[in-house]
Amino acid sequence: MTATRRAPWRRRLGQALWLVAAMVVGAGAASANPQAPLAASALPATPALRERIGALESQGRARPQDTAALVAAEIDRVRPFSAAHRELLTVQGLMLADAADGAAAERSAQALDAWGLHPRAEDRALAAAAALLIRADLAARGGGDLKQADALVRDAMTRLPAEVGLEDRYRFAAVHGYIKDRAALLEDAVRLNHEALAVADRLGTPWRRAEARSALAYSYYGARQLERAWQLSEEAVAIATEAGDWVAMGRAHNTAGIVLDGLGDQEGERRSFELAIAYAGRAGSKRDEARYLANIADFYLKKGDFRTALGHAQRALPLARELGDPDTRLVALANIGFAHISMQHLETGKRFVAEAIAIDEDRGAIAGAASTWQELGSYLEKAGDLRGAVAAYHRHRKLMASVLRADEQKAILAIQEQYDAEQRNRSLDLLQREQQLKAEQLRRRDLEQLLWGLAAGVSLLSFAVIVGLLRRVRQANRLLSASNQVLRQHGERDPLTGLANRRAFQAAMAQRAADGSLRGTVYLIDVDHFKQINDHHGHAVGDAVLVEVARRLRATLREDDLIVRWGGEEFLVLVQPMAADRVDALACRMLAALEDTPVVAQAQQVAVTASIGFASFPLGPAAMAVPWERAVNLVDTAMYLAKAHGRNRAYGVRLQQAANDESLQAITGALEAAAEDGRVALTLLRAQAGASAVEAA
Ligand code: GH3
Ligand code: MG
Ligand code: MG
Repeated sequence: MTATRRAPWRRRLGQALWLVAAMVVGAGAASANPQAPLAASALPATPALRERIGALESQGRARPQDTAALVAAEIDRVRPFSAAHRELLTVQGLMLADAADGAAAERSAQALDAWGLHPRAEDRALAAAAALLIRADLAARGGGDLKQADALVRDAMTRLPAEVGLEDRYRFAAVHGYIKDRAALLEDAVRLNHEALAVADRLGTPWRRAEARSALAYSYYGARQLERAWQLSEEAVAIATEAGDWVAMGRAHNTAGIVLDGLGDQEGERRSFELAIAYAGRAGSKRDEARYLANIADFYLKKGDFRTALGHAQRALPLARELGDPDTRLVALANIGFAHISMQHLETGKRFVAEAIAIDEDRGAIAGAASTWQELGSYLEKAGDLRGAVAAYHRHRKLMASVLRADEQKAILAIQEQYDAEQRNRSLDLLQREQQLKAEQLRRRDLEQLLWGLAAGVSLLSFAVIVGLLRRVRQANRLLSASNQVLRQHGERDPLTGLANRRAFQAAMAQRAADGSLRGTVYLIDVDHFKQINDHHGHAVGDAVLVEVARRLRATLREDDLIVRWGGEEFLVLVQPMAADRVDALACRMLAALEDTPVVAQAQQVAVTASIGFASFPLGPAAMAVPWERAVNLVDTAMYLAKAHGRNRAYGVRLQQAANDESLQAITGALEAAAEDGRVALTLLRAQAGASAVEAA
C-alpha cells in the first residue's frame, strides 16, 4: 500500500471530523452559514475586521471584562474557523486572563482546542499555540505558578508556525516577555520585549508602540539598566501623549515613576505616579488606577509619610474589591496594614496584613504568602515590635521551606518523567561500578594473603621482591577505597559548594546518635540580604558568593567539623562539644571571616555578612537530650532573632533550668520572652574588625 493511495481516505476522514467540530464549536453561526468553506484554510480577516479586532483589543486594556462580552458578540458574527474567529478567541482569552476571570479564559482556550481537528496544519498549530498562550498568561497572573506559566509559554512558542500575522506576533512576544519578567528571567524578558517593540513599530499602532516601550523599560529597570529604562519610558510617554491614549499614558507614567524610584528622583517619582493615577481614572481603568494607587502608597510608606500612604491605600481598596482582582486587593490590604503598623497601630495593622496573606493562602500561592510575611517582619522590626518581627520571619521561613520542598518534588518528578530510562541506566552503572570495585578489592586481598604465604618460605632476595609487590597491592587497595568513598558521596554533596548536603547531615545524625539526639554545638548561618546580592550583581555572582562563603567557613573550622549547605544561602555547622567561651569565639570568628573582606566575583566587590543562631547540646544544666530536628528549630529561632536585631550578629541560646520537650517547644516559640523571665540566657555576639571580640548581652 502506497502513501498516495491512502491520502484521499485520510483527507475525507479529516474533513468529516472537522465538520462535526465546526458544528459543535461554531454553534449557531455554523448552521447560519452552511456554505462556510470548512475544509479550506482559515480565511484571512478583511482589513476592516482586523481594525475592529484591534479596536476591541485596545478597549479591553481599560475594561477587559466588559470588552470580552463585546468580543463574544463579534465571535458570533464572524465565520466559524476563519482567521478572524481564531484571533478573536485569542484576544478574548487574553482579555479574560487579564481580568482575572480564569474560568472564562479557560473556555476561550477550550474553544481554540477544538481547532485540533482543522484540516490545515498551520491553523491547527496556531490555535494550539494560542490556547497555550492564554493558559500561560493565566498561570502567570496573580500569585500564579510561574514555572508552569513558563513551561506553557515555551510550548506555545514551539508550536507557533513560521508564518504568523504581525498582530499575533505582537501578542505572543508581549505575553512571553511579561511571563519572563515575572519569573525574573530578565535577559529573556529584555529580548522578547525588544521583539514585541519591533513588531509594534511595524504595525504602527501608537498604543502598542507605547506599551511595548513601557514593558521593555520595566525589564531594563529589573536588569538595573536604568538609563535605558528611563529613555524608553520617556519615549513611551511621548508616543502615548501624542496619541492621546489614556491607558498607555497611565502605563507609561507608572513605569516612569518606577524607573525614577531607581534613579533616586523622589519628586519625579511622586509626580509620575500622580499622573498615572489621573490618566487611569480618565481611561476608566479601575484596575490600573488601583495598581497605581498601590504604587504611590508604597512610595509614601518608604518616605515615612504613613498618613498619606494610608489615604492612597484606602482609596485603592474599594476599587480592588469591586474588580474582584485578588492581586490588587492583596496589595491594597497589605499597604493599609503596613501604614498602620508604621503609625504604631500594631494590632490593626497586623489584622489587615493577615487578611492580605489569607488571599494568597486561599489560592495556594505559598511563595506570595511567604514574601508578605517577610515584609511584615521588616515593618514590625522598624516599628520596634521585635517579638512580632521574629514570629513573622519564622512564618516566612517555614513557608519558604515548604515551597522549596514542593518545588524540589516537582522538579524531581519532571526529571524522572523526562530521563527515567537514562536515570535507571546511570544508577545501574553506578551499582555495577561499585560491585566491580568490591570484587576487585576481594581479589587484591586474596593476592595479599597469597603473597604473605609465599614470603614466609622464601629466600631474602625474593622476600624483598614480594614486599615490593605487597606495597603495590596495598596502594592499589587504598586507591580503591578512595573511589568507593567518592561513590558513596555521590548524592551527598552540594554540587555548587562541594559541602555536604542536608541528606548527608541526616545520615551523619543517624550514625552519631542512635536516639537521634545531638551532641556538640550547632550554628545556623544565613547570609544577610542575599536576594539583594542576586538582584544587584546577578545570579552568577550570587553563586560565586556562596562558593566563597563555603570556602571561608571551611577555612575557619577544623577538619572534623561538619559543614552543611542547609538551604539556598544557609549553612549549618556542627562542631564537637567544647567550652562555652570557645563556642562563642567560633561564632565571632565566622562573622569576621565573612565580614572582614568583601567577596570579589566577576570583577565586582560584594560585601557579605551573615546572621547566626547557635546552641550547644545536650541542653542546659540537666543536659537534656534533644532530637536534631528540635535542636535545629531552636537555633533557627535564635538566627531570626539576629536578623530582627539588625543582622551581622550571632545569638547563642543557653537553657538556664531543666526543661522537657513541651517546655522546650514553648521556649522555641517565644525565645525573647523566655530570656526575659530567665528560662534561657541569650548571648549576643558581633564581629569586630579583623578580630573575634566577645560582647556579652
Ligand atoms: P535575609 O537577610 O532576611 O536572610 O534576606 P535574604 O535576601 O538573604 O533572604 P531570602 O530568604 O529572602 O532570600 C534568599 C535568596 O537566595 C532567594 C533565592 O533566590 C536565593 N538563592 C537560593 N539559592 C541560591 C543559589 O544557589 N544561588 C543563588 N545565586 N541564589 C540563591
Ligand atoms: Mg534564608
Ligand atoms: Mg538570607
